[in-house]
Amino acid sequence: MIISGKELAASLKAQMAAEVATFEERYGRVPHLAVILVGEDPGSVSYVTGKAKASAEVGIKNTTIRRPATISEEELLGIIAELNADDAVDGILVQLPLPKHINSDKVIAAIDCSKDVDGFHPMNVAALWQKQPCVLPCTPKGIIKMLKVAGVEIAGKNAVVVGRSNIVGLPVSKLLLDENATVTITHSRTKNLGEVTSKADILVVAIGRPKFVTADMVGEGAVVIDVGVNRDPESGKLCGDVDFAAIEPKASVITPVPGGVGPMTICCLMENTIECFLRKQA
Ligand code: NDP
Repeated sequence: MIISGKELAASLKAQMAAEVATFEERYGRVPHLAVILVGEDPGSVSYVTGKAKASAEVGIKNTTIRRPATISEEELLGIIAELNADDAVDGILVQLPLPKHINSDKVIAAIDCSKDVDGFHPMNVAALWQKQPCVLPCTPKGIIKMLKVAGVEIAGKNAVVVGRSNIVGLPVSKLLLDENATVTITHSRTKNLGEVTSKADILVVAIGRPKFVTADMVGEGAVVIDVGVNRDPESGKLCGDVDFAAIEPKASVITPVPGGVGPMTICCLMENTIECFLRKQA
C-alpha cells in the first residue's frame, strides 16, 4: 500500500478551506501567515512557493517577505519583532536554512511562541517533551496523521527512526513514543544500522541521502516512511532516502517521494496557522 500524502493533504486542505470560509463572518478576518525567505536557495524558494500556494488553496492570507542573503541578523530580528507586535499576523515562519552569519537558534527563539507555526521555538519544543499543549512540528505531525489514516496500529510496535535532527528525527520519535510505540533512534554513529532497521515494524528515515536504505535493511511487511528529499545523482529527479522500487514489494505500507511526507508537512503548517489564529479568538 502506497500512502499518497498528496491525496490526503488535498482532502484535508479542502476541509480546512470549508472551515476558513466561515471565518470572515465569524471573526471578521481570515488567518494570516507571514513567511520570511532569506536568500535565493532554489530549494527554499520552492518550499516557500508551495506554502503560498497551499495558503491560497485553504483561504489563508500569506505574506512572503523576501530579503537578500546579505541581510544582517539584527535586521532580520527587527522584521520578526514587527511581525510579533502585529495583531493581524497569526503565524510566523522563517524558512531554514539561514545564511551562516545568522544564528538560526536566536532567530527561531525570537519568534513569538504563540505564532510559532513550525513548532521550532524552544518553549514549544519543551512543551512537546513535557506533554504540555503545544504547536506540533509539521513534518512529524504529518507523519503520524498518515500512519493513522493508513490504519497502521502504532501502539506496542517497534519503531525505528533513522536521523536525530531537531526538525524531524527527534520530534517524530517523541510523537511515536506518545502513541505508545517502542522507539529506537539511530544516527550516523549507529553500528550495524541495517540489523536495527530490519527489525522495525515502523521505519521512519530522515537523513538526506538518496536511496540510502536498501531492501536488505527492511523487514518483510514493515511500514516505511521516507522523509528524505534528495536529487537522484543518476536521473537528477527527486528521490527519498529509501530505495522505493526495491523496498515497495517488501513493505506493507510505504510513502513515495515526491508526493508523500512533503505535502503533509505543508498541510500541517496550514492546520497550525488556523490553530494559532483560533487560539487568539477564544
Ligand atoms: P539533518 O541533516 O539535520 O539530520 C540528518 C540526520 O541523519 C542526522 O541525525 C544524522 O546523524 C543522520 N545521518 C546522516 N547520515 C547517516 C547515516 N549514514 N546513517 C545513519 N544516520 C545518518 O537533516 P533533517 O532531519 O533536517 O532532514 C533529513 C531529510 O529530510 C533531508 O533530506 C531533508 O530535506 C528532508 N526533510 C523533508 C521534509 C519534508 O517535509 N518531506 C521536512 C524536513 C526535512 P548524526 O546526528 O549522527 O549526524
